[in-house]
Amino acid sequence: MKSTIAASLLLAFSALFLAGCYEVPVTGRRAMNLVDDKEVTKMSIGMFDDMKRRYRVSRNKDHIDQLQRVGDRLSKVVFWDMPDADWEFIVFDVPQINAFAMAGGKVGVFSGIFKIARTDDQLASVIAHEIAHVTAKHVHEKLSRELAVSTVGAVGMVGGVVGGASGLTIDALSQVYGLTTGIGGFAFDRAKEKEADFVGLMYMARAGYDPQESVKVMEALELESANDPTPPALLSTHPTHPERILALMDAMPKALAEREKSRASVVGGSR
Ligand SMILES: [Zn+2]
Repeated sequence: MKSTIAASLLLAFSALFLAGCYEVPVTGRRAMNLVDDKEVTKMSIGMFDDMKRRYRVSRNKDHIDQLQRVGDRLSKVVFWDMPDADWEFIVFDVPQINAFAMAGGKVGVFSGIFKIARTDDQLASVIAHEIAHVTAKHVHEKLSRELAVSTVGAVGMVGGVVGGASGLTIDALSQVYGLTTGIGGFAFDRAKEKEADFVGLMYMARAGYDPQESVKVMEALELESANDPTPPALLSTHPTHPERILALMDAMPKALAEREKSRASVVGGSR
């Protein structure tokens, strides 16, 4: 009897905290999630549509084709991490070096990205990193932390506010996405950047791209910032530092092994 009460209390508690917890793909890290996946996805799609209205969409066929080609391959690899995604890959005609991915499978790159990502492998490293932020639910985690530390947020979660049952508002979400500035870039902490680097590296390798190119992209980004007094937008949200490159190097043998495995499975005809 007692255990039934405990169980139902536990159930109520879990319901209050919605999903509660999730496991990050590839790394297996357990992370907190207090926000509703469906709600975040719905709002993200709305924000992406808004960006398509605000910015000019590129007509450069080479850029569009390249992003589509790379995006198609990566989206297959992450299928089980984002089974409900309705993928869309858009090149915005904005000279900034920037890229982002959102819940629901919405990916945007600014045309400036092609300055530092010249090949499919290099573009794949940028896109895979951004997609990794999504599959790892870094936005959910950041919002959850904010909700958890704020008692107002906790009340909002129970009471249900305009944004939805979990107390999520479009303002909070766009702040985490970094879209309020109109730049479209994420600012996460170092640990999450490193996690996205690692997960992204494995994704690009599984898609058959050369993971070693990710180091070149990071070096190109650094060079770009050395030449330009105003650092690329991608660099302001994704500062490069030796630690990041070293971590990539550390993970390289594993990434190369993943790439070999994906090749073997293509030869074996299982994909
Ligand atoms: Zn990042």
